[in-house]
Amino acid sequence: MNIGLSRDLKKRIGKENVKTDAADLLAYSSDATHHYIKGRPDAVVLPLTVSHVAEIVGYASKRGIPVIPRGAGSGLAGGSTSSRGGILLDMKRMNRVIDINKGNFTAVAETGVVLAHFHRLVEKERLFYPPDPQSMAVCTLGGNVSTRAGGPRGVKYGTTGNYILGLEVVLPDGSIIQTGGSCVKQSVGYDITHLMTGSEGTLGVITKVITRLLPLPEAKKTIIVKCRTTEQAAFAVSEIISNGIVPSMLEYLSLGAVALMNTLLSPPLVTDGEAYLFIELDGSPLQIEEESLRVKAVCEALSVMEIRIVDDKKEAASYWKARSSLYPLLMSFLKKVIVEDVTVPRNRIPEFVKAVEKIAASTGVAIGVSGHAGDGNMHPSILMGEISDEMEKKAHRAIEEIVACGLELGGSISGEHGIGIQKREFVMREMGARQVSLFKAIKEAFDPKGIMNPGKIWLDGGKNR
Ligand SMILES: Cc1cc2nc3c(=O)[nH]c(=O)nc-3n(C[C@H](O)[C@H](O)[C@H](O)COP(=O)(O)OP(=O)(O)OC[C@H]3O[C@@H](n4cnc5c(N)ncnc54)[C@H](O)[C@@H]3O)c2cc1C
Repeated sequence: MNIGLSRDLKKRIGKENVKTDAADLLAYSSDATHHYIKGRPDAVVLPLTVSHVAEIVGYASKRGIPVIPRGAGSGLAGGSTSSRGGILLDMKRMNRVIDINKGNFTAVAETGVVLAHFHRLVEKERLFYPPDPQSMAVCTLGGNVSTRAGGPRGVKYGTTGNYILGLEVVLPDGSIIQTGGSCVKQSVGYDITHLMTGSEGTLGVITKVITRLLPLPEAKKTIIVKCRTTEQAAFAVSEIISNGIVPSMLEYLSLGAVALMNTLLSPPLVTDGEAYLFIELDGSPLQIEEESLRVKAVCEALSVMEIRIVDDKKEAASYWKARSSLYPLLMSFLKKVIVEDVTVPRNRIPEFVKAVEKIAASTGVAIGVSGHAGDGNMHPSILMGEISDEMEKKAHRAIEEIVACGLELGGSISGEHGIGIQKREFVMREMGARQVSLFKAIKEAFDPKGIMNPGKIWLDGGKNR
């Protein structure tokens, strides 16, 4: 333990807000992947106010100490872990919802608010904040902004970036700025709000968030579609979209995924299809009635095995709860799961699913394909029952091929999880040298000492050479 660092931090923000015990540091050494455990922070700080954050970041800046911001640590790319010691800022205690403004359809909240809690408060006012990463029971608003998080509702409502109007940010030199504001429109120079959105803790620490809100949809309806083959399910997704139907959620689930989710469902779904679609429609009762008939007609025309409109609200909720538990269910019996986050244009989903199946067969790696198919964000997941050098090599080959395939189809290496450590090697392939050098120039302008979340997004620290 670095005694000088511990003493300095405690002096600045109080000993009750600083942790340096080995067990505490170990608890912060991983995120939800559990496999990017490359090192430990030297200290964990739990700030209560923006002044605490500014004080600590200013201190770190003077000494060139790395700062790693962290929300709930539910990330799936290694973004909130520390590979080079430093001060880890756990933002969870800054968790006040400051204002929900019905007249302006906006809310102001501190960064550490848990998303599900924020949803509940907003919905009590008959308002709606659509972004819904499936980790919502734990993940924080600040973590969502920093990863530009999405979720099933992305198909109709977009992702976190579409709802952020302004931010309070502590810059890497310890100064505090306010970006954007509570106006729906602003056109004053560069858009730093959205530059921070998705910056994964590499440009500064987000301390406050101003979000846009929508009216709460009046009604919703769930439809479960069972498909004969994976191709049929993938094709049904493109057909639903190309028929101009915009569900609020449209999830593609493999047979394996549904079999696993069945452990939480009573009664379980009959697993005689190769793939399933979980669909939710929202809007006025009349609108969802009409849309559900259209979804039915599209699926019937494809001769799917079964279309079930779920009228019981509790039953519908149980399907979505099981869906959001898929990753923890996989982690409960496998040694390692690598969730990829490739997004492809929605009309290319059938090709992508087929290609991933071929990659699984040729590399000998088990790959489960499920995802937010409605917005093209598929999550091919490498499923490892054992960990060995040989298995790791095979898995890496499979990932390289999946990424190459996604890019060839006009897609992206990440739809919502961000780059973190996991996808650093592929950034250049998607963005090209000119854009990467622009990224690095921006990083240099914000953080010339390179203290903010080092080792994330870039393999080489983010400096143009
Ligand atoms: C079961 C499960 C389901 C998931 N489903 C989804 C999904 O549907 N959609 C989706 O997008 N993601 C999903 N995720 C991934 C993850 O939950 C999201 O990336 C989420 O946005 C991370 O929030 P967090 O608070 O846990 O952030 P963390 O994991 O703590 O941090 C993520 C990144 O943000 C940075 N960061 C965090 N807080 C701040 C801050 N205040 N200022 C600056 N930088 C900060 C960190 O440095 C790190 O780079 C899922 C994860 C799990 C475990």
